[in-house]
Amino acid sequence: MNTKHYPSWPDRLPKTLTVPGTTVYDNLLVSAKRYPDKVAVHYYGASYTYNDLFLEVEGLAGFLEHAFNVKKGDRVMLYMQNAPQYIISLYAILRVGAVVVPINPMNKKAELEFCINDCGIKAGIVGQEIYENVQGLLPSMIVAAYSDYLPDQPPFSNLPDEVVAPAKEHPEVAWSEALAASKIPSEYTGKRDDVAFLPYTSGTTGVPKGCVHTHYSYQANTFGAAHWINGANSMAHLAALPFFHVTGVIHSLLMPLTIGASIVILTRWNREHAAAMIERHQITNWVNISTMVVDFLANPHIHDYDIASLKSISGGGAALPEAVGERLHEWLGLQYFEGYGLTETISQTHFNPPHAPKLQCLGIPSFDVDSRVIDPVTLQELATGEVGEIVVNGPQVFQEYYNRPEETAEAFMELDGKQFFRTGDMGLMDEDGYFFMVDRIKRMINASGYNVWPSEVESHLYKHPDIQQACVIGIPDPARGENVKAFVILHPESEGKVTEEEIIAWAKEQMAAYKYPRLVEFRRSLPTTASGKILWRQLQEEEGERSRS
Ligand code: AMP
Repeated sequence: MNTKHYPSWPDRLPKTLTVPGTTVYDNLLVSAKRYPDKVAVHYYGASYTYNDLFLEVEGLAGFLEHAFNVKKGDRVMLYMQNAPQYIISLYAILRVGAVVVPINPMNKKAELEFCINDCGIKAGIVGQEIYENVQGLLPSMIVAAYSDYLPDQPPFSNLPDEVVAPAKEHPEVAWSEALAASKIPSEYTGKRDDVAFLPYTSGTTGVPKGCVHTHYSYQANTFGAAHWINGANSMAHLAALPFFHVTGVIHSLLMPLTIGASIVILTRWNREHAAAMIERHQITNWVNISTMVVDFLANPHIHDYDIASLKSISGGGAALPEAVGERLHEWLGLQYFEGYGLTETISQTHFNPPHAPKLQCLGIPSFDVDSRVIDPVTLQELATGEVGEIVVNGPQVFQEYYNRPEETAEAFMELDGKQFFRTGDMGLMDEDGYFFMVDRIKRMINASGYNVWPSEVESHLYKHPDIQQACVIGIPDPARGENVKAFVILHPESEGKVTEEEIIAWAKEQMAAYKYPRLVEFRRSLPTTASGKILWRQLQEEEGERSRS
């Protein structure tokens, strides 16, 4: 049991969590019965009560079953930006016993084709503004228009006639037509151990692989998250993380709707909209990727908004720079508390305890998680304080990679008679049981034989008053093997006032000779995944190509 290793376990929490025997769909049913008239979802000018959600889910489920013949176990692609229709689609797919395959809305034709073939998609529910990317690839699809609500954007044109036309070789049906044509779906027979979701792993980890998750692993983290924040139906959550990503779906969709809270959806990240929504809806909780907080605080107009309703700001995906965490604390009196997890663990395996968070720290293992640090070569467990690969065993760990037995076997190892998932992240556990990530195994830079950890160099750079964002990579160097290069975004008011040479000279003062970046390049933006993580590998590949040409 984890608590014997982790003395910082909060007193108010049970030592272990009994994962309910129900399904993710059951959670919506319960909330709709308890709070039928309560607003569940705010979407710019529109709102949906729990009963509205329930009725649309029934309608869409009926259509999927009767018109598209979607049955238990079929895979249905959900390819959409954050919108109320995303939520309705997700529950409708589960309502008919099918499997939700959430796809990054930034994916393009080739990536979509890969996934459709990889897991054999039966049907799709897609956003209107991106449906052309999958047109002709799917046996059938429903097209949802939600974008007319978006402020500051021209409304998308109405669906062209051929899209609303009923069944052709590839039937494509508009959302409203689907609901209008619907019949009542069959009785719900879902079980906790049925496969429910097949999220694909982040593009930063090589060839995409589908992670097979049952209702059970989602329930473990939905209820775990609710306990951790002392969840109450009075809470209002800002849903700014994309729902296709595991942290977005657990913390900004499934958990709030399970506890009867309300969510306020942003379709795309926009710091002005986020601040305006926090003020308008008195938002209490915001789970994010740390880069959003960096951007949020860099807004020169941020003090024009009243955001005092915020009680909890937390996130994961990447460490929050220490200096940014301190700025947040000074201004709002709020501690940022970080968590850690992967697609394979459907978000969190580690959480910072709200009563005692540490900055730049993954936290302590969550409910019923056993986490260790091992030597990635010998697979032996390492002692407290030693750096090695973080491995986890817990109820949220996925079953397998879809149709990939070899990759599945490589991803797990046995220790003390238990199966542990190998995260591929390098870290350590301190004396208090907190875990820290040093870096991803492959992200290490080897400069003149010294190991340089990019995230450490980045956290130094964030202390520079002119730097808004930084990403550090290794580039080939004939003399040193690899050299350290930093891509830097300056605060707008600092542009033109500081040179690359000055940043290098400053960095040289801050860190060991082998660590400081010998090269700095200013950029206005950096490539990121849809969930906001900087695509450091893409920058590294670009540099590799540049040095070869
Ligand atoms: P994904 O599967 O897209 O959720 O990515 C999981 C990866 O994100 C992990 O393997 C880590 O490399 C990274 N990650 C998650 N949480 C954190 C965190 N708190 N700090 C640093 N990196 C993180």
